Amino acid sequence: MVKLTEGRGKELFRKYGVAVPRGVVVGSAEAAERATKDGSVPLPCVIKAQVLAGGRGKGGAVRFASTAEEARSAAAAILGSSFQGETVREVILEEKVAIGRELYVSFALDRTARLPILIASARGGVEIESVDDAAIDRQTIDPFPGLLAYERRQAAHALGLTGPLAGELDRLLSSLYRLFDREDAELVEINPLAVVGEKLLALDAKVIIEDDAAFRHPEYSAIRDDRTPLEEIAREKEIAFVQLDGNIGVIANGAGLTMATLDVLKEFGGAPGVFLDLGGTDDPKKVSEAFLLMALAKPRAVFLNIFGGVTRCDTVAKGLVAALESVPASERFPLVARIRGNAETEGIAILRAAGVTSVPDLKASAQAVVAAAKGGA
Ligand code: GDP
Ligand code: MN
Repeated sequence: MVKLTEGRGKELFRKYGVAVPRGVVVGSAEAAERATKDGSVPLPCVIKAQVLAGGRGKGGAVRFASTAEEARSAAAAILGSSFQGETVREVILEEKVAIGRELYVSFALDRTARLPILIASARGGVEIESVDDAAIDRQTIDPFPGLLAYERRQAAHALGLTGPLAGELDRLLSSLYRLFDREDAELVEINPLAVVGEKLLALDAKVIIEDDAAFRHPEYSAIRDDRTPLEEIAREKEIAFVQLDGNIGVIANGAGLTMATLDVLKEFGGAPGVFLDLGGTDDPKKVSEAFLLMALAKPRAVFLNIFGGVTRCDTVAKGLVAALESVPASERFPLVARIRGNAETEGIAILRAAGVTSVPDLKASAQAVVAAAKGGA
């Protein structure tokens, strides 16, 4: 998933003809002050953290300034701070506009209908998830003819726009749909879309590019803002590896078993910190590589939950033991294993020889690893 920051999203908006306020993205408080002094950003202005998380308005990451000095101190306050775990390295500075109304529009993929969908709501400026269903207008779009005039008119009607503003919306939706289509986006969202006099301005931009189309867009290959450094290494090695907030490492095989393992740990009060899905791999080299990557995330305890179908438990165990030996003693962590299925007996024997016990019962093994992560044996 290639998630663009607001600044990058707005560059695309400009390119496709979606109106955005005048503004710049800067990385320092000095640059913020300069931008307001040299006229690149008119005062009063808005200063917003360039992070991928939403809800910045509520979270104090959107500020207003009416002098260059205020712009500087607002930028200084936001830069370097952490917003939902993300360090703020850049802020966007924009002219502050006098908002008449805040609307919501987006194009997304409706996975059930298997079609693009146009979502419009007159209740913009708040998270769309919190808006009453009755106040949201949804239209699936046939991608072959593309977005049609009557669909744009229906959206205008849903947003309560008439006259010149309906014309503005018509052009905006055409541009936005073109962006969605040509850039292979899975989401383009404007929230809020501000009514400013007889104009519509996109005050925010959320653009996510479909990962499966990445090969068609080498220009996005440098943007990996949503991956942690370890996730980036994992991607290059083609290992399914995801970092979470907790402290228990999970190694499982297959998406279903992996998700179920995370649920079971949660159920018993544990907090999964990183998980990797071996998929159909039992190549000991791959297992070792994946395990060592997990060790770099410094889990407090690791839960190995393997079901051997095609995968052989003994080869997984071999790879794991090989990797265990190369983890320095000071960085070792308790390991709880549960391996069942194909070549289970051989696998258990290999683990036992390396001092790892396999606990066959799911509940008991999950409880053991939760206890270990909390500082137990
Ligand atoms: P988010 O909270 O992360 O989605 O950040 P947004 O960019 O959507 O900004 C949050 C809110 O700040 C908006 O819904 C507006 O109410 C307000 N805001 C942003 N830009 C302006 C502006 O130029 N003028 C005014 N008056 N309010 C703004
Ligand atoms: Mn927003």
